[in-house]
Amino acid sequence: PLNFKEQDPALWDAIANEERRQEDTIELIASENIVSHAVRTAQGSVLTNKYAEGYPGKRYYGGTQYIDVVEQLAIDRAKKLFNAEYANVQPHSGSQANQAVYAAFLKPGDTILGMGLDAGGHLTHGAKVNFSGKLYEAYSYGLNPETELLDYDMIRDLALKVKPQMIVAGASAYSRTIDWHAFRAIADEVGAYLMVDMAHIAGLVAAGLHPSPVGIADVVTTTTHKTLRGPRGGLILSQAENAKRLNSAVFPGTQGGPLEHVIAGKAAAFFEDLQPDFKDYAQQIITNAAAMADEFNKLPTVRVVSGGTDNHLMTLDLSATDLNGKQAQELLDSVLITTNKESIPNETLSPFKTSGIRLGTPAITTRGFNADECREVARLIVKAVLNPNDDAVLAEVKAQVHELTQAHPLTALP
Ligand code: PLP
Repeated sequence: PLNFKEQDPALWDAIANEERRQEDTIELIASENIVSHAVRTAQGSVLTNKYAEGYPGKRYYGGTQYIDVVEQLAIDRAKKLFNAEYANVQPHSGSQANQAVYAAFLKPGDTILGMGLDAGGHLTHGAKVNFSGKLYEAYSYGLNPETELLDYDMIRDLALKVKPQMIVAGASAYSRTIDWHAFRAIADEVGAYLMVDMAHIAGLVAAGLHPSPVGIADVVTTTTHKTLRGPRGGLILSQAENAKRLNSAVFPGTQGGPLEHVIAGKAAAFFEDLQPDFKDYAQQIITNAAAMADEFNKLPTVRVVSGGTDNHLMTLDLSATDLNGKQAQELLDSVLITTNKESIPNETLSPFKTSGIRLGTPAITTRGFNADECREVARLIVKAVLNPNDDAVLAEVKAQVHELTQAHPLTALP
């Protein structure tokens, strides 16, 4: 067999370097995780060779008898995991899942109301730079500036004013439990469909640790690579009555051949998510995030937006420090702590700078970090951020990061 490393050292080295980076850094990007060997094996399998346009039992290509087994396993497991009547496992990503849902329920020019990008919503919830803000008349709701929480009265007032055909609930950076029933009531009052994008919290929902939107919303989308700990991809869940329009919106509406190797990875991940120990994992994500937020609350100068977290993430307000979000992200990169800059409520800086950073615990929890170690991570972050020009302090932080990552090697994971 071909020796990949010798034939293509440039690519091999880039992959090997990324593997080392993942090993050596404390990964706090809230949307990331570390998949199992089974998920990687499925995704790296021969299934990538196969075209299978259509759905199990109704394909446009021959030779799909085993592909059908793979995709049906993924569908059945997704339905079981979320207690859903319908699942479509073909969306290539979360964005494609959302695109297909809009295509299924809306016409171009229809009005959507989603959470603003600056408030913690996703690009596909109506941002002007995204297809969702170009193709549809998009309005956005934010957080209550005082409580820094979703304010259902404010959302209702806006919905009554703009009369959306669809309301989008769900977020990329919201640390509190979302009340799906409150969104349903608003949608019903204005005659809108309700779509929930639970991409960030899907693993917590699967584990029963955040209320499920399935059965309350008309349609639920998610990515499969965040708290669900599967391959990069999308998933749509709904009631059986919407099966036909959602299936045709995905294929042939917005996609061609499905990525069956990724779908196999989704099936492998859903199998893992259905095991009893996944609930322990999801609980530990929440315990770790709560410990981290509690530790930040004890430390000077930084502030956790909304005062804490109910889920896997939080936004840390750095506006009382000397650093903006971008500078903090870069400084933390230099001590091998990976984060991303994030706008805070009532933000005064541009989205390229921001006043905060977003922190999440799914990846380090997979690695085996416990609550005390997460408290230490919080102390290391604050130590670095409050001493950005002190090389000796930064070297100390980096050494402590090294100790933590060495204590939890990625090679020890299943
Ligand atoms: N929806 C939400 C709430 C997200 O946070 C994300 C990704 O960060 C997506 C959708 C899009 O997923 P993808 O990056 O797979 O397109």
